[in-house]
Amino acid sequence: MVRMLLVGPPGAGKGTQAVLLSKAFSIPAISTGDIFRANVRDETPLGVEAKGFMDRGEYVPDSLTNALVADRLSHDDCTSGFLLDGYPRTLDQVRALDEVIAAQGHQLDVVVELTVDPDIVIDRIRVRATEQGRTDDNEDVMRNRLELYARETAPLIQVYGGRQILVSVDGIGSIDDVTGRIVEALGLRGLRA
Ligand code: AMP
Repeated sequence: MVRMLLVGPPGAGKGTQAVLLSKAFSIPAISTGDIFRANVRDETPLGVEAKGFMDRGEYVPDSLTNALVADRLSHDDCTSGFLLDGYPRTLDQVRALDEVIAAQGHQLDVVVELTVDPDIVIDRIRVRATEQGRTDDNEDVMRNRLELYARETAPLIQVYGGRQILVSVDGIGSIDDVTGRIVEALGLRGLRA
């Protein structure tokens, strides 16, 4: 039973690690980016609203994003824990998430920060743009997303550090190496798969 978040810049490998950790810990991986993309693909009202922000590399407004996550965390599969990938990304989202978890009578166990060199992140996003054809992975949008991360999301790391629930893990290396480092760091905190 683990309630955790993955934080890190775009291209840090959060999505890949989220899927593996979700299996290892038997908890759902919830990616706000994936949920938004599915809504864009299906042309739902949420997707229509989110698309412009996503294509420009901006954040979808907090009100929409917070409502989406509050709803998702109310599903039965989250009672045994969850892994959030790509949420929260703003201080307002931190506050909203705290409220949702507290209302369920729980607290966050751990926040895993994946650290990567900015040049490596840019290379990875270039590869992903070719492989997955993501419309938000072109050069200008990518820079926007990295800047936004530095301005809006990096401050969250201090917040969670202050709560003593932050674990920073080197995100450079093979996928398995990185998963191994995360599992080890969680184990040191008594959080076991
Ligand atoms: P990701 O796949 O996590 O990189 O997310 C892709 C895009 O979805 C982001 O660039 C944002 O436009 C939007 N998005 C995903 N998560 C959030 C969030 N927590 N807050 C605001 N926008 C988000």
